[in-house]
Amino acid sequence: MTTVAESFRTEVRAWLEANCPPEMRQPLRSEADMCWGGRRWKFQSDAQRLWLERMGERGWTVPEWPREYGGGGLARDEARALREEMRALGCRSPLDSFGISMLGPALLKYGTHEQKLEHLPKIARGEIRWCQGYSEPNAGSDLASLATRAEERGDHFVVNGQKIWTSYADKADWIFCLVRTDTGAKKHTGISFLLFDMESPGVSTRPITLISGASPFCETFFTDVKVPRRNLVGELNGGWSVAKYLLTHERNMIGGSIERGSAPVVSQVALRSLGTDESGRLADPGLRARIAEFEVDEAAFKLTLERVADLMKTGQVNPAMSSVLKYYGTELNKRRQELIMASLGSDGLEWESTRSREGFAARAWLRSKANSIEGGTSEVQLNIVSKRILGLPGE
Ligand SMILES: Cc1cc2nc3c(=O)[nH]c(=O)nc-3n(C[C@H](O)[C@H](O)[C@H](O)COP(=O)(O)OP(=O)(O)OC[C@H]3O[C@@H](n4cnc5c(N)ncnc54)[C@H](O)[C@@H]3O)c2cc1C
Repeated sequence: MTTVAESFRTEVRAWLEANCPPEMRQPLRSEADMCWGGRRWKFQSDAQRLWLERMGERGWTVPEWPREYGGGGLARDEARALREEMRALGCRSPLDSFGISMLGPALLKYGTHEQKLEHLPKIARGEIRWCQGYSEPNAGSDLASLATRAEERGDHFVVNGQKIWTSYADKADWIFCLVRTDTGAKKHTGISFLLFDMESPGVSTRPITLISGASPFCETFFTDVKVPRRNLVGELNGGWSVAKYLLTHERNMIGGSIERGSAPVVSQVALRSLGTDESGRLADPGLRARIAEFEVDEAAFKLTLERVADLMKTGQVNPAMSSVLKYYGTELNKRRQELIMASLGSDGLEWESTRSREGFAARAWLRSKANSIEGGTSEVQLNIVSKRILGLPGE
């Protein structure tokens, strides 16, 4: 007998086959192939535009969000089936955005109905690109020390201050931003969560150039920026709860997306590069053992991700679990990239090549180093785990 999930799966497969352009079924060649959307987004091809439009119309860029806010309204097992069918066909993600992975979940929990109606459908369709204004020059790990000020002036706030490491601030349309609204209160209790347009007068960005010559980062400056009061998410001075909730989603995204996405299969890369011995096993025995150990850990982590996602749906998960996923997922990715580089030998040093599938291995290896810093460092995640899961004493 066909279960609902099976008939749904068949329907999904047929729809994807008919609607996902062949070009969007090719593996990503580099980060430049990803689609971030937004007012200023330049599509790489008609296929990329079409794929976003089609998935956006169905709400399948955010399959589990409610339909009234632009989502697909799918149940969790249906969304999982959609992801699995996309993976089986090799479909690229139609849209990667901080709106989807970070702001959206926070708005769904803390936003008013009007805020949800205003922002979520534009996120789902990739019309507005968001950036994250959390870190400041003196507030990274100790985020609650942030000093950007927002003063209340009747129906609006006036924001002054500086953010740093704001990824893609120069390309984003709107920012979700942590600001201090009460300077007299304890540091965690005087913070609010604001949304505003990056084109507001008084907002400016300055790219931070890295040694590689390119960087997604910016410094972001606010000088007397006027923000309507209706753009306050959650309670005045209650922004820390929103910020923390968003961070759990950011950490799940960073830890989990590396596994859920189209990460290369290490053993396949190694087999292509090194070939097999006379008994058909990977030619290098030392690497073979390390890769086997890695792939067992990777399989266990994937199962853990699924288990945690199920528990989350029923509200049974300790919020600090996101720190476990973030820590383990990012350390795992660093191991993956090390093993890929070890497998490729000198071929792995190619920098510009699109000649081979492994053409950007060196960049992916270098990029993985930042995984255990962004969204809160590994040390900070371990502190959270020790305190909130293991119950060890701390400050
Ligand atoms: C790729 C990338 C993208 C980013 N994008 C954004 C963005 O879009 N928006 C944004 O707001 N921020 C962004 N960040 C900033 C990021 O959130 C911070 O870098 C991070 O929180 C660490 O803060 P910090 O750099 O100030 O380091 P610090 O807090 O100064 O930490 C320095 C070192 O001290 C250690 N340390 C600090 N406190 C403790 C402690 N209590 N116990 C043990 N060790 C400790 C840290 O682990 C680290 O090794 C991004 C960072 C990266 C790498």
